[in-house]
Parts: sequence; structure tokens; C-alpha cells
Amino acid sequence: MNVSVVLFTSDLRLHDHPPLRAALDGPRHAVPLFVRDKAVENAGFTAPNRLAFLADCLRDLDTGLRERGGRLVLRSGDVVDEVCKVAAEADADEVHMAADVSGYAHRREERLRRALEAEGRRLLVHETVTTVVAPGALTPASSDHFAVFTPYFRQWSRQPLREPLGAPRTVRVPDGVGSEELPARASLRGVSEGLAPGGEAAGRRRLTAWLRGGVGAYEDRHDDLAGDATSRLSPHLHFGTLSPVELVHRARRAGGPGAEAFVRQLAWRDFHRQVLAARPGAATADYRTKHDRWRTERTAHDDIEAWREGRTGYPVVDAAMRQLRHEGWMHNRGRLLTASFLAKTLYVDWRVGARHFLELLVDGDVADNQLNWQWMAGTGTDTRPNRVLNPVTQGRRHDPDGAYVRRWVPELAGVAGPAAHEPWKLPGPVRVALDYPDPIVDLADGLARFRRARGHG
Ligand code: FAD
Repeated sequence: MNVSVVLFTSDLRLHDHPPLRAALDGPRHAVPLFVRDKAVENAGFTAPNRLAFLADCLRDLDTGLRERGGRLVLRSGDVVDEVCKVAAEADADEVHMAADVSGYAHRREERLRRALEAEGRRLLVHETVTTVVAPGALTPASSDHFAVFTPYFRQWSRQPLREPLGAPRTVRVPDGVGSEELPARASLRGVSEGLAPGGEAAGRRRLTAWLRGGVGAYEDRHDDLAGDATSRLSPHLHFGTLSPVELVHRARRAGGPGAEAFVRQLAWRDFHRQVLAARPGAATADYRTKHDRWRTERTAHDDIEAWREGRTGYPVVDAAMRQLRHEGWMHNRGRLLTASFLAKTLYVDWRVGARHFLELLVDGDVADNQLNWQWMAGTGTDTRPNRVLNPVTQGRRHDPDGAYVRRWVPELAGVAGPAAHEPWKLPGPVRVALDYPDPIVDLADGLARFRRARGHG
């Protein structure tokens, strides 16, 4: 019997899954395996919201495999040890997995390759499973990666796409390979009340609804905070319950300016992955340092707490921070303006903000989170690294009626219209009755501090 192991990581789906299809090619049996990796847990990357979403994903993957005659095998421990054990138990001659981009993922792949080869087995790593274009496939003339998005996107758009694969009809799993019990979301503590359901089935339903009803208006409405008119597919892309290659194909087929703008956002995902693959240190260190002397947990403790709790006195910042806590997700415009507020107006180290986001975001992702934080902190790939987003102007522009603020900040629920963005301007007695904090910082002071720090006057 020819047997392969398929190691699932950030690709928890059956549709368009090249490693699974390759493993089943010919008269082969396959062991679909997921390892709860202790190293990832010990590094603090397993926030309750992501564990809950993951639990849904694993159960859904198992259900899909069972419908095809197979099942999912779950193990916990060191990923290399566990894969080797399962390969030995199943007498597998090869292991298939998706390529990934972080420094940790590269080390994992190398360790696994060596351990398997020592036992006479092969590791086959598949590209374009978690990205549309493989990191490193596109390079400018003078560097090993693109540092600016626009030229990257130009090349990215011209790349030929492979055809998406269907889900396999049958999955034959050899007997005798035991599995741990799959985790259940209900058993987890600290999960956000409004967390979306995970799993490939939920992801595919959301994608179909998005392509039918949402993407057409995306170009015009993607920044409308109250309208909530983005796809919300980010957790599905993070866990790989949807294939980015399939998404691009289907969006292009839908056509129109909305679909084009959506595909451009998917390219940002690949862009960050090719930066991180080339500069793994950018997960923790400035990509382009400005020699900032950031305020930290020690020197700005109260400001940081107010930001985390959504009590800065700037309604749109507070609304977004509270959305994050309630849903484990935040609108992109909210991410931009809360990050600008922390890193630039409060001049707090971007790593403090990135860590808080990773503790709560269901789509929390090393490449997208750290590099977007760096972009907004002006240490990343932004070509205008000193831009500062004014929370009042942002609120008035992207939540013109104040509806987003009233949704997430109940203290301001009774303030009609755009006045919700500047409660300090309300008449004295109304203001006092609100039980909403005064702004923790004067915007002009914050801007002046930032300019001084960056040597701009
Ligand atoms: P849509 O607007 O529908 O976009 C479709 C997809 O394109 C998204 O699902 C996402 O995969 C991709 N995308 C969109 N914008 C970006 C971007 N700027 N960078 C990379 N990919 C993008 N995204 C994450 O997936 N994980 C994170 O941890 C994360 N952290 C962020 C932190 C900050 C400070 C900022 C400013 C942005 C962050 N983003 C992150 C990017 C973006 O905010 C989210 O991808 C987006 O809000 C998810 O919502 P959506 O699926 O409705 O997006």
C-alpha cells in the first residue's frame, strides 16, 4: 500500500488543496494530520479567539473528510516528532505540506525534511496553497524582495494563475493511526462574544454571499465603518479554509471595479508575505528604522491601558477597540486609525499595539499584523512614513453619521449625528451626563511630540 501523510497547517480545507491532491494521486492512501504545535502555543500565538476558530475548522475538516470516507488525525506536541511518529505508524513514504513564510515555518520545514530523510522518507512542500503567488517568485532587479507595493502589484497582476482544484471525492485513510479527540469551541474560555464561526463550509458560504451581494460595492464602500461592507474573509484566509488562488479566480470572474479592488487587497496579503519571507526579523524589529525612542508599557502605562480598553476619549478609536474585543475582528479603517493613534499620536512602540491585536484578532497573523503595524508606525513599507491619521477627521470621513460610534460606544448612543465624534463640544450639562472620558491627549500636542521625535520641527 502506498501511503502519504498530509500535514495541514494554515490550509484547513479540502477544496483547492494541492498537497492533499498530490498525496492522493494514484492508488494512494493518505493520513490527513494536524499537529497542535507546542512551540506555537509556548510562543503565545494561541489566543482564545483563534483557538475557538481553529476548533471549528478542525471539526469541519474532519466532517468533510468523513463524508469522503476518511477522517482527520489530531496529535499534540513537537510537530517534527509527531509527523515522524505518524509517518512511521502509517508506513508512509512521503509527507506533503504547504509552504509557509515565517522564520519559524522555515525552520520547521528544514527540521522536518532532515528528520524524515533520516528515516528514508520524503518531504514535499507545495507553493501557492496559502498565497496566490509564491514569495520570492517575483523580485525587482536590485533586491531579493519588493519593498514597495505598487510595482509588486503590477508584476503580481500579470502572473499566470494555476487552476483551482476541486475537493477530492474519496479519501482513503489507512487503519491503525490513532487520533486525539478534536477540541470544541464551547470548552474554551476568554472567547469574544461576537466571534464568527470557523470552518471551510462557513467560509465557502460567506464567499458565495460576498461575490453575489457585496463585492460589487467594495470599491466605494470598503472604508465605510458603519456599513461593514468588506468581505470579512480574513479569518478564512488566515486559517486557509479558503484558497487565495480560488478567491482571485472567482473574484475576477465576477468582474467589475469592486472585484478588482478586492483582488488588489488580496495582493497586499502576498506582498507582506514576500517581505516577511525575505526579512523574517521584521516580525519583531523595525523593517526601516527611524531610530524612534518609543514610549513603552513602563513610560506610557495609563495611555496604553486607555487605548486597549477603548477609553481614550476619541470616540472612533474607542469604538474600534471595543469592536476588536467584542468580535475578535476589527474593520480595516479602524485598524489603521487605532494603530496611528497608538504609534503616532501617543508615540507608543508599535510592538505594544501589535501584541494586543494578536491577543484578540481571529485573523491575527504574523505577516499581516506586524507589517501593517509597521506600515502605520512609519517603520515599514509606507512611502509616507510620517503620515498621521487624525481620529476626528477620520471619524467624520468614514463614519459621517456617527452610527459606528453609537453602535460600539453605548455611552454616546444618545448623541445624534456626527456630533458623536466630538463629545467635548456638547453643551456642559449634556457632556457631564455622558459618563464618557475626556480625551487623554491633545491631538496638536501628540503631533508636535511625533514631529520632534522624527526630527521634523
Ligand atoms: P477585505 O477588505 O474584504 O479584504 C479582503 C482580504 O484582503 C482580507 O481578508 C485580507 O486577507 C486581505 N487584506 C486586506 N487588506 C490588507 C492589508 N492591509 N494587508 C494584508 N492583507 C490585506 N489582516 C489580517 O489578515 N491579519 C492581521 O493580523 C491584520 N492585522 C492588521 C493590523 C493593522 C494595524 C492593520 C492596519 C491592518 C491589519 N490587517 C490584518 C489587514 C486588514 O485590516 C484586514 O485583512 C482586513 O481588515 C480584514 O477584513 P476583510 O476580510 O473584511 O477585508
